Amino acid sequence: MNKLATVITLSTALILSACSKSEAPQETPSLPVRYAVIDLADIATAEALTARCQEEEGLFRAHLAELETFSGTPAIEGYYQSLDSLFSSLGNLSSAAGSLAGVHPDEDLRDAGDACSQLLTKVSTDMSLSRPLYDSVSQIDLANADDATKYSIEKLLLSFRLAGVDKDDATRERIRELNDEIVAIGQEWDRNIRDDVRYMELDSVDELAGLPEDYIAAHQPNDEGKIVISTQYPDVFPFFEYADNDARRKEMATIYRQRAYPQNEEVLRKLLEARYELAQLIGFNNYAELVTADKMSGSPERVKEFLAELKGYTGEVQDKEYDVLLARLRQDEPDAERLESWQRSYVQSKVRREQYDVDSKVTRQYFNFNNSRDGIFALVQELFGVRIQPWETDTWHEDVESYELVDGDDVIGRFYLDMHPREGKFQHAAMFPFVNGIDGKQLPVAGLICNFPRGEELMQFSQVVTFLHEFGHLIHWQFAGHEDWSNISGISTEWDFVEAPSQMLQEWVWDYDTVSQFAKNAAGEALPKDLHSRMVAARDFGLGMGTRGQLSYASLSMSMYDRDPKELDFDALNAEITSEYTKFSPIAGTHSWAAFGHLNGYSAIYYTYQWSLAIATDMFTEFEKAGLRNVEVAGAYRDKVLAVGGSRSANDSVTDFLGRDISFEPYADRLRGKTD
Ligand SMILES: [Zn+2]
Repeated sequence: MNKLATVITLSTALILSACSKSEAPQETPSLPVRYAVIDLADIATAEALTARCQEEEGLFRAHLAELETFSGTPAIEGYYQSLDSLFSSLGNLSSAAGSLAGVHPDEDLRDAGDACSQLLTKVSTDMSLSRPLYDSVSQIDLANADDATKYSIEKLLLSFRLAGVDKDDATRERIRELNDEIVAIGQEWDRNIRDDVRYMELDSVDELAGLPEDYIAAHQPNDEGKIVISTQYPDVFPFFEYADNDARRKEMATIYRQRAYPQNEEVLRKLLEARYELAQLIGFNNYAELVTADKMSGSPERVKEFLAELKGYTGEVQDKEYDVLLARLRQDEPDAERLESWQRSYVQSKVRREQYDVDSKVTRQYFNFNNSRDGIFALVQELFGVRIQPWETDTWHEDVESYELVDGDDVIGRFYLDMHPREGKFQHAAMFPFVNGIDGKQLPVAGLICNFPRGEELMQFSQVVTFLHEFGHLIHWQFAGHEDWSNISGISTEWDFVEAPSQMLQEWVWDYDTVSQFAKNAAGEALPKDLHSRMVAARDFGLGMGTRGQLSYASLSMSMYDRDPKELDFDALNAEITSEYTKFSPIAGTHSWAAFGHLNGYSAIYYTYQWSLAIATDMFTEFEKAGLRNVEVAGAYRDKVLAVGGSRSANDSVTDFLGRDISFEPYADRLRGKTD
């Protein structure tokens, strides 16, 4: 039903005519070509990171000055090569510093990482607003360029225009200031969330009734006889799912949704105001328009239409699920008038147990961290014909494992796994970039940063799904990191496509052949087939409510950015959207938006998860037809979708793989509960 239009549409209003420089008759001066990466062995202290960062900043500035004063004829060889090596180096240093800021055990080094990102972002901003760079790139003769190079240069010119390069000096100066401010404010926002771990103290072990034994064993009373439960994921999610004590679940949900409040209220206001002003200076009505201009969706209107469509598909299903949960709640509490948000996970888990005979306490016996990791490695090796082997290298913490991805005789990428919680570490799950690969120049390097149990400790099944999800980003980064130019290599595709490879890889957890190879309990027995079949049957129970939750986040993210932030009352907007999309209202005294981390990094475009999921569901139909272990389909997917990186539009890549236009219909069918 939905067809996606081709993506990069250059708005004519934004197109500048390139000024022609006077031709210099003398021979073309040579420009530096330098690819810089960080070796973690050299960055063991905050001082080392700061020194390296300052040294690089000097080199970047000097390189930039040479490009800006270049007097020859800009060409692909020479000028563009030099410019791209600067973009690449800047990107690598800045992403490595930003990644270390999220994971390093040394707080000073984390701060140095943030400071380094800020410093280097200033160089990026200056480049994006540099008329001499823009004019030179505009002059490059593309007549004999290959398609990927043309695409890279056109994409760069568009990003210059979206940055405001065509504005007058005073406006560009203000844009520069705003960009610096936005980075600093965004870091403060992230830090406030990262550092705000809260705790609930329980008076006795009785209050852990309902929780799995290994959880109870890991939560013994302290010297004061109190049991401490933190807001960290491995603590809090099992508590929401299993704890019989309703009052304590409510208390925990309240504490959890107060994180980063009140400190992030003012921060969010500053962030929204800075981005609103920025968008207006560049020529848009608001930041949502600016940030969707180079996405597959193309505009906030298309996004809202998409969210409305998905809302339409999920109404009936959500109502049905809610009724089932409320009915189940009433078996224990006959007077219950409604189901509350802190009861959802708990009651849903009960229904799965009783009506689908899926007990997450039983299923999790089969998934410990080690066997899940090994199973995911095995899956990826088999599907894509690659090998994963240990990589001897320095890391930032003893918990971190390092690996190489090998194709035939060639190492094609490297990665870290930093999978367990520790203080001061990023609390969510994500792939962190370290090096964006460039063909023949540097191999792609990334880290998976998660907060899972360790070793033989048991995972929640949902954590296994998350692991696969993040691994999907990782292989995308590795396979795609072999283009010639940095802005088309790695995960440089349109942002609203980026989640599709990760969401699609999750599907394999529903394949018994895949899962039974690694899901084994302590006695070494494989997950029984009938249990897995029941898990599949129970899979979509809760999908309506879950999707509505996602839509409410997407709508909140869009609504924060599609208007003048002066009009915004965060609590009121959050309450309005929560009620519009879900069966719940926010718990009194909570401010969950204050810890909604994506409002910084994703700004208006949280919808991208649903958009990507719609595409992932469509792509997966090829595997459903041919078989999940069909290596030809997997190979075509690797070649046509992953390995091409951002060298063409995602629409072109997916269409090439499917042999037809993209359709959102398979996703609509799934949401409506149609399975065939
Ligand atoms: Zn993701």
